[in-house]
Amino acid sequence: TPSKEGKMFIKALFDYNPNEDKAIPCKEAGLSFKKGDILQIMSQDDATWWQAKHAGDANPRAGLIPSKHFQERRLALRRPEILVQPFKVSSRKSCPVGVGLNELKRKLLISDTQHYGVTVPHTTRAKRSQESDGVEYIFISKHLFETDVQNNKFIEYGEYKNNYYGTSIDSVRSVLAKNKVCLLDVQPHTVKHLRTLEFKPYVIFIKPPSIERLRETRKNAKIISSRDDQGAAKPFTEEDFQDMIKSAQIMENQYGHLFDKIIVNDDLTVAFNELKTTFDKLETEAHWVPVSWLH
Ligand code: 5GP
Repeated sequence: TPSKEGKMFIKALFDYNPNEDKAIPCKEAGLSFKKGDILQIMSQDDATWWQAKHAGDANPRAGLIPSKHFQERRLALRRPEILVQPFKVSSRKSCPVGVGLNELKRKLLISDTQHYGVTVPHTTRAKRSQESDGVEYIFISKHLFETDVQNNKFIEYGEYKNNYYGTSIDSVRSVLAKNKVCLLDVQPHTVKHLRTLEFKPYVIFIKPPSIERLRETRKNAKIISSRDDQGAAKPFTEEDFQDMIKSAQIMENQYGHLFDKIIVNDDLTVAFNELKTTFDKLETEAHWVPVSWLH
């Protein structure tokens, strides 16, 4: 979208090297860029190849880049969207971003509870005696849950042991209404729906370190969210580590363009400091956002 002065800028969502692009009419005329680069669009006269230059360069050279429409179309042909089957999602135990993710979220939350907030999920399971409605969960009937799903009230939901669990859009709104930054831990396919003027999300992918580092550092860690009925936490197995790496890779390939930042969670303290610095900068420094978020 053009800015007030009539100039149009875009933020690159992927790396591009014209020398590796079989479709470009002339490789020498192409402009290479990296994910996150800000490009100024000079011409959109051609539907397939736009002319662009790097913003902020003293002496920028204009070159050809694939148009948004063309890039989206060829990607769609190359990799079909995975079909999301909402009610098949079960526990989050195999979610790779779970490698210390909840711990990172918890640390950030307690570092400043005035500033950060988290959502209260909905569930259809019975309330346990020590729980209070609206604290651990918002307890609702299966019928109401299904109606809310029909009405698109949830950002994400799943089924676990014959009960539904989910995060409602309103629960995010109530955190924002308290003027807090809402920390959300979601599956990447939901990000598309959250990237709106209302939520203006900043998406951080918490990535597991190498398998060697996982073996070294997480050997004695336990999978808390897959407790068995006796409440015992199981240690991670070699298979869990391989699953984490594999699904993180799949997520990055498929959704990397939606991530504003990637933080590798090798050492928890280092990852936490990087997270904290990222948030502090985000709130104090100017950064590029879609024009539609400014209105
Ligand atoms: P519990 O019933 O023991 O409180 O939670 C059981 C499981 O429900 C958790 O381990 C987690 O897998 C799942 N769960 C809790 N909250 C949510 C949520 O907001 N969304 C989804 N999809 N699952 C949840």
